[in-house]
Amino acid sequence: MLDSALYIVPTPIGNLDDITLRAIEVLKNATLIAAEDTRHSKILLDKLGISGKKMISCHDHNEEQRASIIIDEVKNGGIVALISDAGSPLINDPGYRVVTLCSKADVRVVPLPGPCALITALEASALPTDKFMFLGFFPVKEKELTEKVQSLENADYTAVFYETPRRIVDTMEIVGKILPEHDVTLCREMTKTFESFYRLKAKDAATFLKEDSDRTKGEFVVAIGSLKQENSSVPAPVVKAISELIKTSPVKQVANVLSELTGIKKNDLYNLALELKNKD
Ligand code: SAM
Repeated sequence: MLDSALYIVPTPIGNLDDITLRAIEVLKNATLIAAEDTRHSKILLDKLGISGKKMISCHDHNEEQRASIIIDEVKNGGIVALISDAGSPLINDPGYRVVTLCSKADVRVVPLPGPCALITALEASALPTDKFMFLGFFPVKEKELTEKVQSLENADYTAVFYETPRRIVDTMEIVGKILPEHDVTLCREMTKTFESFYRLKAKDAATFLKEDSDRTKGEFVVAIGSLKQENSSVPAPVVKAISELIKTSPVKQVANVLSELTGIKKNDLYNLALELKNKD
């Protein structure tokens, strides 16, 4: 039996099978489901065979008022599930004020791990994941967008942001102008039929997208690498040697030989060689 609490429940970002057993258990046992859009979430609940649940909408414009309903429900022994349209609630989705007000009211908040476009994209980006910054949606106005992108010029972390299909080309034009040599990964329609990962130099991204209108369809997460992080543990002449040797020899062999000669960890060289090979 579940404890009375507010449960933060991630839902699929495309593939409806991407929901955890625990998320299903919470949704099945919930006495109240607070959803960003109740009609949208009913599609998922139907697919899970969950019906007849008490639901309330919870979005940016009514969060405070909804928080008091949620607090009362939990204090009366209820189980509340907070869900958004897709992915993890609170990550560029409603829920922050609900969680803040619940914690102030001593209501237990239980977060469930699960789908999140930001993390899914980062994992597949082939860019460093040890240090990253999530920037939400980029500004729409050109001046603010330009300033935001300029702020990444000397970043020593991977920057990740959400973008819409309508704006992806314009945004990448600006990113390409300001950060031409940065590696970017455009993660499109993840977990869906047309899932694609485009790994390129920022200066080439907008042109690449414009070449085929299918490439701009759907939802995007963009990851921008850092020039500082890239290959930081491997000196430039070794990087150059790898680039040449992988043209004619297997990646593993190149990593083994160069590791013997330089004393650099085999694994670091292997990962770098793979990365360079995939870029070709
Ligand atoms: N809270 C959600 C999460 O955790 O993934 C994100 C909500 S935000 C309002 C929606 C944005 O996430 C989309 O505009 C897109 O940038 C990104 N996104 C969501 N699902 C995606 C997918 N399947 N593939 C690529 N990007 C996705």
